[in-house]
Amino acid sequence: MNRFTKITASIGPKCEDRETLTRMIQAGVNMCRLNFSHDTGDVQGKKIDLIRDVSEQLHTPVAIVIDLQGPKHRIGNFATEDKYPLTVGQKFTFDTDPTPGDGTRVQLPDADVMKSLNIGDRILLNDGKIEMTVDSVSPDKIVATVVRGNEIWSRRGFNLPDTEISTSVLTDKDRADLEYAITKKPDWVAVSFVQRPEDIAEVRDFITARTSHPIKIIAKIERPNAVERISEIAAVADGIMIARGDLAVEVPFEQVPAISRHIIRECRKLNKPVIMATQMLGTMVNSEFPTRAEITDVANAAYLRADSTMTSEETTIGINPVNVIETMSKILSYSDCDAIANPYDWSRVENVPENDWSRSVASMAYLNRAAAIVVFARNADIATQISCRKPDIPIVAVCNEHVVANHLCLLRGVFPIYSDELFAQRDAFNAARKFGVNDGKIVIVDADKISLRTLD
Ligand code: PGA
Ligand code: MN
Repeated sequence: MNRFTKITASIGPKCEDRETLTRMIQAGVNMCRLNFSHDTGDVQGKKIDLIRDVSEQLHTPVAIVIDLQGPKHRIGNFATEDKYPLTVGQKFTFDTDPTPGDGTRVQLPDADVMKSLNIGDRILLNDGKIEMTVDSVSPDKIVATVVRGNEIWSRRGFNLPDTEISTSVLTDKDRADLEYAITKKPDWVAVSFVQRPEDIAEVRDFITARTSHPIKIIAKIERPNAVERISEIAAVADGIMIARGDLAVEVPFEQVPAISRHIIRECRKLNKPVIMATQMLGTMVNSEFPTRAEITDVANAAYLRADSTMTSEETTIGINPVNVIETMSKILSYSDCDAIANPYDWSRVENVPENDWSRSVASMAYLNRAAAIVVFARNADIATQISCRKPDIPIVAVCNEHVVANHLCLLRGVFPIYSDELFAQRDAFNAARKFGVNDGKIVIVDADKISLRTLD
């Protein structure tokens, strides 16, 4: 009840059985992330069915986000499984020849990307461990000089931090994955390597041409050009993910904390939910305990009033995914309470997109020290609007549609309850009790009617 910051859990081999999923949701997962970089099609479809089933059994709304791989670039294969050392000053060639590579050249299977590169652009390989600059470009060949050396081997990822890539944000694989995923009615779709607001429009058009189901879109911010245009992108997306994995390769890593704060601030101004992602409890892949630095990182996301933190490998391939969720929930609960007890925070003095109506709801709740704001949520809009200031008072949203409850799962401090009965009877008292508030005052919001009642 005390945890305002939500938890998004990546679902993978170590946590996709019914028992583990059940225990993770009981431990506090609000949204499950299915990463289409790994499994696709029916394999993911079965996981969606299972999550829906467990969520219903536990009477706990759980959102599902489909994460598309996007234009993640990889080099081709080398002649052997060996690692090939690259040293500073040496030349290296990327071409379209499928012949296995050697210490001087390798194929770029995705040849289209060559068209976007310019002389002087950096190429980062293998998580940024190798850096090169481009010397010459032609339609089927890029020659570059190594400026930071390391080892390279088959199928390593490469990032192009200086390059505006002109290809579509949806690869052929993403289109096929999304086509399938849409039939399973996910609540959210996360789009990787977004560069511009038009990318979001493209994905939205793709979705609306195929379904009337209201699927919301999360833009993953992991490229420098997306950081530059964050407010334009956040304005058209429904949510933002700070994808620190690729981001820390594409921008100097020391900038990641400042950029994260900036992104949260911009999202707050536009009232868009924001997820802090990647390596939050990374050492728990192999350990039962987080490091001090990880504890602090998770806590800071709560202090910055992010909407959600996220787990990655620590739940997909980690030794104890349930323990990861319990650990994250514990840190967030404590830090949320502390942030509420010590409310001075920059997020409270920002210009939030409040209107007169949502200001009256918030001020009525604050002035009367309400224990909760209960909203009857026909759609996600009203609860979203009231939550724009991220008030320290819980917003209990009574929903009569699963998809509305699932969309609200991601919002900091908004607690969706799915119940036809409570919704039909406008039963705010029992909704508050169900949430755990048994006495005190509550503010009730039903369409544009606002009222104050004392629980009895
Ligand atoms: P990924 O996204 O795991 O799909 O790469 C997250 C990130 O880059 O941080
Ligand atoms: Mn990424």
